[in-house]
Amino acid sequence: MSTFTVVNPATEQPVTDVPLASVDDTDAAIERAQEVFPAWRDVAPGERAALMRRFARVVDEHVEELAEIEVRNAGHTWGNATWEAGNVRDCLNYYSAAPERLFGRQIPVAGGIDVTFHEPLGVVGVIVPWNFPMPIFGWGVAPALASGNTVVVKPAELTPLTAVRIGELALEAGLPEGALTVIPGKGSVVGQRFVTHPLVRKVCFTGSTEVGKQIMAGCADQVKRCTLELGGKSANVIFADADLAAAAAAAPYAVFDNAGQDCCARSRILVERPAYDEFLGLLESSVKAMAVLDPADRDSEMGPLISAQQRERVQEYIDEVDVAFTGPAPDGPGFWMPPTVVLAESTEQRIWREEVFGPVVAVLPFDDEGDAVAKANDSEYGLSGSLYTNDVGKALRVARGIEAGNLSVNSHSSVRYWTPFGGYKQSGLGRELGPDAPNAFTEEKNVFIAH
Ligand code: NDP
Repeated sequence: MSTFTVVNPATEQPVTDVPLASVDDTDAAIERAQEVFPAWRDVAPGERAALMRRFARVVDEHVEELAEIEVRNAGHTWGNATWEAGNVRDCLNYYSAAPERLFGRQIPVAGGIDVTFHEPLGVVGVIVPWNFPMPIFGWGVAPALASGNTVVVKPAELTPLTAVRIGELALEAGLPEGALTVIPGKGSVVGQRFVTHPLVRKVCFTGSTEVGKQIMAGCADQVKRCTLELGGKSANVIFADADLAAAAAAAPYAVFDNAGQDCCARSRILVERPAYDEFLGLLESSVKAMAVLDPADRDSEMGPLISAQQRERVQEYIDEVDVAFTGPAPDGPGFWMPPTVVLAESTEQRIWREEVFGPVVAVLPFDDEGDAVAKANDSEYGLSGSLYTNDVGKALRVARGIEAGNLSVNSHSSVRYWTPFGGYKQSGLGRELGPDAPNAFTEEKNVFIAH
């Protein structure tokens, strides 16, 4: 069996070897998930809810351990890794309320009654990327299990360790063997098999837009359901009337969190012309003050990139442009790169148009509200974005005008497990999280009963 050596991105030291599943291993796991499906579907709603809550409780008891694994495997800061493990627990708890609330409807008809049912799909495949191994695992797994599906998960090759551990915790919590199976392996082998195996009824994919398009095309062959959470090039729009100090203090965290390896990274900053110079001065101070440290240090605010390959990919973008200023970065081993600010010269530059997925932000001035919305929308992506203004009317108009799934006003963050998350345009298809997520893992069946 082939294996993959997991490397600590902050030290470049090997952490452990993980066996990679073959197509046959994947088929066996999918078939097992299908065998277990009828029993899991038929678990009484209150009992499935109790099992989900017990799963959440066991994850809660292991938050520190899971965070420690993620710090070593993904180079995430302690603060982030602890939040991420807690997010899995919270997602499980939130969706543990779903089994008893998978409501259908009663629709008025002549000659009888008409009712609808939400019925689980069967086996669901979740393909997870390396940038947020724990949250993205939980966002797919928790609502899918809650609505009565069995789940197979392919973690990213680079970051399988927390997924494998959470899979063990599910068994410890009493979930039946086969209800949730973690299958580490290559995207082109395990992930691709989720797409082609007829027993997998839905694929939830998070990753690059390029692979997402292949997944969607592959799913079309069996009219397989799919949810896609893809790339982003989100705008952070700063109006001159905003609290500029607050906006400049938040902007680095809106893009450099997780070393910029975040599909929601606000990697384009648009500043209203009269505030441009003042904002840049404030931004420079806050970028230079960032604590870019080994994530094993609990004060670290930004860690390394995930791999040497990712650092090279990001460096290619930086080599094409003039850098205005950078923040700090450690010397020595590790895939480090400082937070980097670039003044865009044209909206045609790659740095302005493409998802860099590293700690790089481009800044551009704008003239007025209409220009801000037009520039923000001048992108094939539409995942998230922020805007800073003290004018509530303008905030609403601009938030409604920007073509993106998740907008934050006077704030840099918008992903909460109890609110919907997903993209416009090439940022994705469908929504995750929020109150409706369990329904996305069901078919709605209509039944008419004659009097
Ligand atoms: P990918 O899209 O290749 O990987 C995401 C996940 O999909 C991984 O689990 C991967 O497996 C799997 N995968 C890859 N190919 C296939 C396939 N043919 N069929 C099924 N599953 C597949 O992203 P990369 O890791 O290559 O990152 C490249 C770029 O993508 C980044 O620089 C960034 O711009 C973007 N990206 C965006 C993310 C987001 O959240 N929007 C997340 C990750 C990347 P494996 O790990 O084995 O490759």
